[in-house]
Amino acid sequence: MEIRIGIGYDSHRFVKGRPLYLGGVEIPYDMGLLGHSDGDALIHAIIDAILGALSKGDIGKMFPDKDPKFYGIRSTELLKEVKIILDTHNAKIINIDSVVILEEPKIAPYTQSMAHCIASILGIEEHRVSIKGKTNEGMGFIGAKEGIVAIATVIIEIK
Ligand code: MG
Repeated sequence: MEIRIGIGYDSHRFVKGRPLYLGGVEIPYDMGLLGHSDGDALIHAIIDAILGALSKGDIGKMFPDKDPKFYGIRSTELLKEVKIILDTHNAKIINIDSVVILEEPKIAPYTQSMAHCIASILGIEEHRVSIKGKTNEGMGFIGAKEGIVAIATVIIEIK
């Protein structure tokens, strides 16, 4: 048995006219995240953490944003592909911890739904997925509500 750790980072810009998806859940807000997919920065960070733990590159290599196949795709669909990769490697997630840094909206009312969504796709118990919301205290591009950042770590066990 081998234990491996991965880290993932992502940022996306807020734009008008798109729904806001985070952790696979639609959150009411007057802006959404720009991206080739649905812009779900939290799921993207989690995917990069998992791929990192497996030394399988990153989300851009696995799902190129030049590929029209992935245009407008829900990031939950990409996470399902990553679950298949985990299974192929006999890898099981022990836990995921994550931070979403954004000035607005408050995500606390949605973190349980997000953890439920992510855990069910990855076939693990909900208590293995932690999601924390933070503001940037009004500083920088996050503070100006131009965009958000998500950071995730994962520990996996390979049999
Ligand atoms: Mg992204």
